Order: sequence, then structure tokens, then C-alpha cells
Amino acid sequence: MSASRRDRQSSSEELFARAVELMPGGVNSPVRAFRGVGGTPRFIASARGATMTDVEGRTYIDYVGSWGPMILGHADAEVIDALHAALGRGTSYGAPTELEVEMAEEIIDAVPSVEMVRMVNSGTEATMSALRLARGFTGRNKIVKFEGCYHGHGDSLLVKAGSGVATLGLPDSPGVTASVAQDTLTAPFNDAAALEKIFAAHGADIAAVIVEPVVGNMGCVPPREGYLQALRDVTRRHGALLIFDEVMTGFRLARGGAQELYRVTPDLTTLGKIIGGGLPVGAYGGRRDILERVAPAGPVYQAGTLSGNPLAMTAGLATLRRLRDRTVYERLERAGRRLCDGLSEVAREAGVRTVTNRVGSMFTTFFTDSPVNDWPSAAKSDRSAYGKFFHAMLAEGVYLAPSQFEAAFIGVAHADELLEQTIEAARRVFRSL
Ligand SMILES: *Cc1c(COP(=O)(O)O)cnc(C)c1O
Repeated sequence: MSASRRDRQSSSEELFARAVELMPGGVNSPVRAFRGVGGTPRFIASARGATMTDVEGRTYIDYVGSWGPMILGHADAEVIDALHAALGRGTSYGAPTELEVEMAEEIIDAVPSVEMVRMVNSGTEATMSALRLARGFTGRNKIVKFEGCYHGHGDSLLVKAGSGVATLGLPDSPGVTASVAQDTLTAPFNDAAALEKIFAAHGADIAAVIVEPVVGNMGCVPPREGYLQALRDVTRRHGALLIFDEVMTGFRLARGGAQELYRVTPDLTTLGKIIGGGLPVGAYGGRRDILERVAPAGPVYQAGTLSGNPLAMTAGLATLRRLRDRTVYERLERAGRRLCDGLSEVAREAGVRTVTNRVGSMFTTFFTDSPVNDWPSAAKSDRSAYGKFFHAMLAEGVYLAPSQFEAAFIGVAHADELLEQTIEAARRVFRSL
């Protein structure tokens, strides 16, 4: 390292210039690169509570929350203390621990569909493993996913819809083979009739339907009244499994996730994000008769060197224990309503057309004037207007998701005065657009 580098802190611009030579796009996960909004990503030096501070010393009110996990805020004292204590006992054993038993008990107690659970290391791993299990359990090959839903980067899930219903999948990425993609059927979200048609044509071949019960990955898009129940009914009728991908919504919308909130119980559930308390983690769980097919109890193979890692279990447990207090979700609901009402009001005052979708502490302000219920309606949003809004908010010290098609998150550390500051910043920004 050169003397000058050691003597002063590099700027985000300087770090990004180095990073793009060393890592694809300068990042370890694409959306961090700000391609959706333009400009240079901020390199973060530290974070505390509801704020993050970049390498230039600018502090932002953070509505990304590491893309969902930081529901307690950054560097929460209890989580950090628990991690400090755990560190002294070693960082990985490759043998069972009491922490894993406690984590399984916590998840099973909270999530209605989960009778048994397997820990993995990311949400991607959770959804890939859940699909393998669904195929192994049913002996069927095809899966159905919805246009605009993201379930991690597993091959069979990187497939988008063509137009119309029952479109055979086309790979969404080079490197995903046509033979993998052809087993993924895609359907429009929030359209129960379209799914019925797919089942009428392919029902006997469909192992599972996987869905984000409240979509976060096209921006926040809630299910229509009765839609999740319709998914439950059609899958049951045709002997297919229903998988709720609650990697984002689990412990976010309620302690038991979207399935508690909407009172629809899937066969399998995938989790991640919050259950790791900011460390890398994922999990899949569900009906006991299905989970008992997973190795070594059953023949469906799935394994992981670092799965159930003691540090990840420690941070996750410290987080989940705080979420036993159900008033947390009432507070988050109030904070979410207050912020989103405020954002809608200041947009309207300034004559900027926006639609804000919200469920609990998860929301998106779409730059559009028509309701957003699915991918085509989300895609109508004015991305360049969002980009201007994003950068102006960033300059005001508010860190939103660097893409129109991502959800924003509120956590327990977002005190009322931070929410008010955010609304006042948005008032100035909307006027300037
Ligand atoms: C984030 C996310 C994933 C992927 O999780 P990773 O930990 O990034 O692999 C899967 N499904 C949903 C719904 C997500 O939000």
C-alpha cells in the first residue's frame, strides 16, 4: 500500500476506480453498483442504528438496511455483545451446536408452516434447496414462478416470463441452459386465472409454485385480496407444493412472516436476511413429512460446510429474540404509515405523480400514476425520475435503494425525528424535480 493511501482515507470515487479493476462492475453483488440510478456507489465505513456513514464522513438515514436484515438497526448493542462473547468460543466447528437447536426452535415457534428446518448460508441456497426438495418429494420436474419475483440467482430461477400465460421459460442470463429453463414456467403475479390455465396445461408435471407472498423484488407489491389463498387452492388440487419465499418478508411483516399476516400456510418456506441478524444465512423449512426427505434423514441431498455457523446463529438468535415482542410490529406499522403518508403528501403538493405501496415496514415509491400490482405496471414507472429523486435524496442525507424496483425498509431504530427529517428532505426534493 502506498504512503498516500495510508495517510488519508480514500474517497468513494477513488475506491470505485480501484474496485472496477479488481471485481466485476466493482462490486460483489450487482445492485450495489448504482447502475439503476447512475453515478458512483458510496463506500460505507460504518453504520449505527438507522444511519450509515461513508468513507468521506457523510452520514445517511438508511432505508436499505443491508437489503432487509437490519430490522433492529446497525450495530445493535445486544447483537454485538452476543457476537463478542461468541467469538471467544471459536468461529466454526463443523459439528452440531446448541445454538442450532435454539435457532430451529425459534423459527419453528414463529413461522406457522415450519415443522422442521434446515439452515443454509444464503437465501439463494435456501430457494435452490427447497426446489430440489419439492422435486424430490413430488417426483415432478416443473416449477412455476412469477414475473418480477426474485428468488436468488439459482439457474432455474433466473428465468423471466415471455408474454402470455404458460410461456415456456427463456433463460434470463447467459450460462443458464435452455434445458434447465424449460422446466421453469412463469406466470403474471396477482392473476389467479392465469395460474389456473398453466395448471390446466401442465398440472401433472408441476412440482411447486414459488412466490414472494409480498413481492419486494419488483419494488413492494402486495398480493390482491384472496390471491395467496387462490395459490394455496390450486396447488393443493393438483398435488403441487406451495413455497413461500419469505427471505425478505420473514420476521419482517410479522414474527411469522407474510403467512401469519395473510393466514395462508404454504408447504415449504424459505428464509434468510433477518434470521442472520446481518451475518450470511438462509433456511428452508416446512411440513415434517417433506423435510424428512432431506439427507441424512432422507434421500434428497443437501449439505454445507459452514451451515448453522455459530456466529450467524448468535447474531440471528439475538435478533429473533427481540422480535418475540409483538409490539415491535405495531411500532413498525405506525412508522411505516407515518413515513409513507408523508412521502405521498409532499409528492402530491409538489405535483409529482407517485404511487407508494407499503406493507408494514416495507415500501416503494413508484414514479407512476397508476396502481402497481404486477411487473408490467411496475415497469411503467419513470426510472429516470426515480434516479433524479434518489440522487437528490442522497445529497439530502437519505439513502434509499439505488433502483426503482427495490423495496425500502424501516427498522426499530428509525426514530420519529428521522422519519420527519426524511419527509422534509423529500418535500424539498420533490419541489426541485
Ligand atoms: C434476497 C432474496 C433472496 C436471495 O437471498 P441471498 O441471501 O441474497 O442469496 C431470495 N429471495 C428473496 C425473496 C429475496 O429477497
